[in-house]
Amino acid sequence: MSGLKLEVPEIPVVEQVQLPARETALIVVDMQNDFVKPGGRLVVPAAANTIEPIKQLLARARARGVRVFYTQDTHYEGDPEFSIWGEHVKAGTWGWEIVDELKPQPGDIVVQKTRYDGFYGTPLEDLLRVYKVLNLVVTGTVANICVLHTAGSAALRWLRVYVPMDTVSALNEFDYYAALRQISFPYRGTIVRTAAGVEFV
Ligand code: ZN
Repeated sequence: MSGLKLEVPEIPVVEQVQLPARETALIVVDMQNDFVKPGGRLVVPAAANTIEPIKQLLARARARGVRVFYTQDTHYEGDPEFSIWGEHVKAGTWGWEIVDELKPQPGDIVVQKTRYDGFYGTPLEDLLRVYKVLNLVVTGTVANICVLHTAGSAALRWLRVYVPMDTVSALNEFDYYAALRQISFPYRGTIVRTAAGVEFV
């Protein structure tokens, strides 16, 4: 397929959203050393650039009492996903840990998941219901894999999904824009240009 040129369909992008803090949760997907840090097993180079915007968004979310979730991709010896990606985020290793800059704080909820989808086989759906969350701001990596599946799964449950463009990352531009297109088109999520454009009220 080399030489194939594609146009990216129009992806609507908004500059600013205001989300009621009490009905909103922020989720940080798989910002773990193996995916983000030099020396990791499966590094997405662009993910490093998302740390600061996510950090600032987390700070504003916590200050407003927005509930904060993390997904933590978690595998054990012999996981079938290793045949696709090689060994990564083995439970208990350095690579499995969430990056220091975004360390979960007391009161945050860390959901360990074994597949791309943060809802699959985890208590995430139940927790979002319990806390009456209607809006989910999705950040993290990888945009077209775990972010897309988690955002899509949220949308299938009729949560309103918001994705700040500077808080998600992929291995290449095609994957990045394909993810944003999928989130905004079939899943009707809102793409926000920057994390700074997400206001909690
Ligand atoms: Zn994995």
